[in-house]
Amino acid sequence: HRTTVLITGCSSGIGLGLAARLAADATRRFKVYATMRDLAKGERLLQCLGGHCPDTLEVLQLDVTDPCSLAAAAQQVQGQRLDVLVCNAGVGLMGPLETCSDQAMKTLFDVNLFGAVRTIQTFLPAMKSRRAGRIIVSSSIGGLQGLPFNAVYCASKFAVEGLCESLAIVLRPFNIHLTLVECGPVHTSFQANLQRPDPEGSEMRRLDAETQGLYRRYLGHCQSIFRDAAQEVEEVLPVFLDAIGSPCPPLRCASTQLLAPLWRLRLSSPDGSAYVRAMHDFVFGGSEAGREQP
Ligand code: NAD
Repeated sequence: HRTTVLITGCSSGIGLGLAARLAADATRRFKVYATMRDLAKGERLLQCLGGHCPDTLEVLQLDVTDPCSLAAAAQQVQGQRLDVLVCNAGVGLMGPLETCSDQAMKTLFDVNLFGAVRTIQTFLPAMKSRRAGRIIVSSSIGGLQGLPFNAVYCASKFAVEGLCESLAIVLRPFNIHLTLVECGPVHTSFQANLQRPDPEGSEMRRLDAETQGLYRRYLGHCQSIFRDAAQEVEEVLPVFLDAIGSPCPPLRCASTQLLAPLWRLRLSSPDGSAYVRAMHDFVFGGSEAGREQP
């Protein structure tokens, strides 16, 4: 029996890399259902596999915001017991909170939170009745700690963390392992795809000068973090492979220790003020501008 794995968001980035890696496994241990919202974007995955679709791979349409599309995908894998579900589809939203439109916030939650909920709801009953299965969810460092100018994105990933931690407690007697993978910055299409305010747009122009200044500094910080510390997809795949392969995977695994000192500060000082201060200094620098005036 091959291990069957269904992955959402396989047209690019981590989903694409994971699907290609599993489908190309030398011992052909896996049957991969690589799903994507837009099948026209399936070319890159096939290119990674030498231009043709091996029998270890099936590409399916799946938009996590569309219940009909989820039902159709579930129909196609029915009969094949699903061993591993990877909820990976996700989008970003960056910018001062005042510039985030209602529509952008709703779209983000519809993909990142409700998309994961719907996907899990679709495949969970069969796993429960078999009393076996694994669910792996792409969370983020931003699901563990607040990050400046990513408030709504972090809110969606914090929600995903709460969702999964709560669910893991109930899934224990069913022998279903749930694992959250928290990546830091990874070189994918994520940065290009994320919604961000038009620098010349009216929301940005209406924004106070001080926040505009902080945002510019944040963008500079982001550039240097991505230049110096971002990981390649290949570097984060082992975390997913461990969650698929290990007998008893943990609830959380991080792909990087980049923000671990700040994360520990958040735990050791639960009132949160030390974290807020340290994160502010990390991103905007020590004592200079950007601080509130006394
Ligand atoms: P990516 O943009 O390359 O991949 C995200 C994928 O999700 C894309 O293929 C996109 O088409 C898909 N997607 C978007 N909306 C969808 C929908 N409605 N239905 C189905 N698929 C949809 O970025 P990535 O970095 O590979 O992101 C994968 C996951 O990793 C996301 O959940 C993201 O939040 C998380 N993550 C990324 C980073 C990073 O820096 N790249 C860091 C931490 C966490």
